[in-house]
Amino acid sequence: MTYNLVWFKRDLRWQDHAALAQAAQRGPVRCIYVVEPQLWLQADAALQHFEFVRESLAALDQHLRTRGGYIEIHTGELPDVLSRLWQEAPFSGLYSHEETGNEFTYARDLKVGAWCRAHGIAWKEFAQFGVVRGLKNRDLWQAAWEKHMASPVHNAETLRFWQGPLSAPFTMSAPVHLRHNPPLRQRGGRPLAIDTLQGFLSARSLGYRGGISSPLTAPDACSRLSAYLAWGCISMREVVQQTRAQLAQLPPQASKHRASLTAFISRLYWHCHFIQKLESEPSIEWQNMHRGYDGLREQDFNQAYFSALQSGRTGWPMVDACVTMLRETGWLNFRMRAMLVSVAAYPLWLHWRAVGQWLATQFLDYEPGIHWSQMQMQSGTTGINTTRVYNPVKQAQDHDPHGTFVRRWLPAMRSVPDSWLLEPWLMPSSVQASAGVTMGKDLAIPVVDLAAATRDAKQRLHARRQHPEVKAAKKAVVDKHASRKQLGSSSKLNTQQTTPQQQLGFDF
Ligand SMILES: Cc1cc2nc3c(=O)[nH]c(=O)nc-3n(C[C@H](O)[C@H](O)[C@H](O)COP(=O)(O)OP(=O)(O)OC[C@H]3O[C@@H](n4cnc5c(N)ncnc54)[C@H](O)[C@@H]3O)c2cc1C
Repeated sequence: MTYNLVWFKRDLRWQDHAALAQAAQRGPVRCIYVVEPQLWLQADAALQHFEFVRESLAALDQHLRTRGGYIEIHTGELPDVLSRLWQEAPFSGLYSHEETGNEFTYARDLKVGAWCRAHGIAWKEFAQFGVVRGLKNRDLWQAAWEKHMASPVHNAETLRFWQGPLSAPFTMSAPVHLRHNPPLRQRGGRPLAIDTLQGFLSARSLGYRGGISSPLTAPDACSRLSAYLAWGCISMREVVQQTRAQLAQLPPQASKHRASLTAFISRLYWHCHFIQKLESEPSIEWQNMHRGYDGLREQDFNQAYFSALQSGRTGWPMVDACVTMLRETGWLNFRMRAMLVSVAAYPLWLHWRAVGQWLATQFLDYEPGIHWSQMQMQSGTTGINTTRVYNPVKQAQDHDPHGTFVRRWLPAMRSVPDSWLLEPWLMPSSVQASAGVTMGKDLAIPVVDLAAATRDAKQRLHARRQHPEVKAAKKAVVDKHASRKQLGSSSKLNTQQTTPQQQLGFDF
């Protein structure tokens, strides 16, 4: 009997899995995941991503076995793997989710499409987020997002599996070249995603508003769903619907909790808004969104500054502590990510592409659409966003005034007296001696003069921004990528008749 092939990619769940549910309605299914050697050789891949995928697939396999099936792990490039499976037993359809990935997955999907056409196979792809493929106009985007999030979740009530070779126990080993697996990272799998969502909605979300900016409170106050969303252990629609259900249940006096959950839903909207940018213009992974900024940082990339950033030796304790936390946990809150990129892009004047490739390997939740859009936005190359420069000394003052965070992640800071926490490099030698800390050895000295280097960088960026041709080309970028400020009257996204970004003071 023929069957439908369900190809799992970054959608490692069984609930609200449109491809699985639709394939199952049409007959027996055969579930596969393909370890693509070339994909894992890309510069943005890391061992932590592979291990998270492996853990998520193990949970998926365990679930499928309770329903009489399992997931097959194949290794090879697509479409070679499809050819192998086809020769073994022809299938009638290929089912998967749309993927807004990197340059490699884009090219691979073109090859898969060509293979399907050559073999007369229908490849049915389903939207996995509120991202619209082939979008012509941003004006109707928000309504499309709402429609996707409000539609019922897909549930494969009955699953019949193709009866192929006897199933072997689940195994999957990482390519040997892969590096970087933070010891304290989140673990993969749908059950953990559900626990994380429930823990957030029932208790942790109370502290969301007001708690997400400081790296001290953010690990608990934020939802911590990003990796589960990025690898598809839970669907965006499930998260939106469950959050709205929780909002509807709150008593009238729970205004703080309501504000927190409303702010959280805005982030879920941004998730898709940013991925849409890469979907609509895949080249923003490697090329400036506004081409008028070409040539700005390409020439004078300073490798020594980049190495100092990567090794947590910039000399600014808040930056170095963030790099250390990221290395150990695979996660950092939004403000601290933005600060890292801002320091890289302005005082260190580093091009976003190299910094972004390194950060992609550091973030467990690496999601190309959000990542590259944010890298460009924080580096000032979109041409449509206000220049936002985060001063690492001020960030420490505002979000870690007692040094708890920097002392946790930079042991040498523990003996620095409180009065020198923000600028330890200014400590006189006598203070260094009595504290037992040698600047330049135990702690780095700033690689550049922060104020002068930032001023210089801003001037260079603003000079480019004022150029008549750069100004003239801005409209095309706005038309293609900017969010629309006006809400349609039927929108339920928020109740205050402002866009989510207006509520939070952002321009996208
Ligand atoms: C330079 C840079 C790179 C980033 N790269 C990624 C990335 O690769 N993957 C990723 O998921 N997020 C990325 N972000 C956005 C943000 O920092 C993370 O989504 C957030 O820290 C994840 O933690 P959380 O799930 O607890 O967030 P929460 O605050 O609980 O947010 C819930 C969800 O909303 C979405 N979200 C939150 N903030 C943003 C935002 N500013 N833009 C778009 N979506 C958002 C995410 O899906 C997140 O999981 C990046 C931010 C910056 C500044």
